[in-house]
Amino acid sequence: MTENKETIMKRAEEAVLHTYNRYPLVLEKGEGVYLYDTEGKQYLDFAAGIAVQGLGYHYPGYDEALKAQIDKLMHTSNLFYNIPAMEAAEKLTKASGMSKVFFTNSGTEAIEGALKTARKYAWLKDRRDDHEIIAMRHSFHGRSMGALSVTGNEAYQAPFRPLIGGIRFANYNDLESVRAQITERTCGIILETIQGEGGIYPATEEFLKGVKALCEEHDILLILDEIQCGMGRTGHMFAWQEYGVKPNVMTCAKALGCGVPVGAFVLDEKAANGSLAPGDHGTTYGGNPFACAAVSTVLDLFERDGIVEHVREAGAYLTERLDELAERYDFIEERRGKGLIQGLAIQGRPVSEIVVKSQEMGLLVITAGNNVLRLVPPLIIEKQHVDEMIEKLIRAF
Ligand SMILES: *Cc1c(COP(=O)(O)O)cnc(C)c1O
Repeated sequence: MTENKETIMKRAEEAVLHTYNRYPLVLEKGEGVYLYDTEGKQYLDFAAGIAVQGLGYHYPGYDEALKAQIDKLMHTSNLFYNIPAMEAAEKLTKASGMSKVFFTNSGTEAIEGALKTARKYAWLKDRRDDHEIIAMRHSFHGRSMGALSVTGNEAYQAPFRPLIGGIRFANYNDLESVRAQITERTCGIILETIQGEGGIYPATEEFLKGVKALCEEHDILLILDEIQCGMGRTGHMFAWQEYGVKPNVMTCAKALGCGVPVGAFVLDEKAANGSLAPGDHGTTYGGNPFACAAVSTVLDLFERDGIVEHVREAGAYLTERLDELAERYDFIEERRGKGLIQGLAIQGRPVSEIVVKSQEMGLLVITAGNNVLRLVPPLIIEKQHVDEMIEKLIRAF
């Protein structure tokens, strides 16, 4: 018999450091695109553990592959070769058309590696020790010191200064503001292809192509953070593929393992050949056989079942239904996003209230920015789940 919800929440608050104000739900199990709490209540999941559970819960083939890897080998360290890491890296370079992969345990660590890549690349050219990176306002790249330093959010940064030096901020989708920050010391420009936490703002094509051109002109590395918007979510394996703007460094995490904690930074040939070398970077866990078996399996299942193609269809339908809502309700300012990463900008009422009401209706949605309702469901949702979500959201409204 499971303990009752209040007891579990109380024990958690007593033992777990209070850095999150959690919703009063204790989730216990999942099946398909549904989650169940300890009281047996069912929730349609349009949060997916923050865009992680791309394949939902217990997707056919996923659990079996992970269980098989547990039975073989969990961990070896990077002092040796292992088969799942080799396979996962091959599949990731193939899916991205990029050159080399470094596996990490999280998104923020992938960002750290990307920043080090940019600095080393520039250092090899001029041996300066004052290189700069341009990042965007309202961005989110993670909570470790380097990633936090390029996260354009004053509330997140303020208590932790001094952050790493040499960071300049520009405005997202404002090419001139990026150009204005370029100096002879600039080694990298980092941005999310679609700003996620900041409120679901896709890059305009003009902006992304313009930034790429600036990077080429000044031999600066372009780092695209695909941690939230990548892995099929936009209807392309990586969001930049739709724009035809290939980064020098790409960061992945979230849906990369579809539930197993794993991230990666992926380098094109230029970055791979001209930056990190033996001794420059490392990790004990990163690239371990278990995590890499997850990555390898996820990429296989995406291909086997045409997940990315499915997202295009499901995403088009979700877009259509959300546009109808935006039309119908005055407090919805606009819909933004692509495919299955969507946001509704809400005005005149707190988004958190809608989130809590939705939970009562058996629907999990999350927020982004300070007034955006964020929808990042498992990539395997069908039309009927979109309809169910809309119906529950309307009741929550
Ligand atoms: C979630 C996220 C990160 C940080 O990933 P963690 O695994 O939480 O460290 C970085 N960038 C983007 C765009 C994200 O959405």
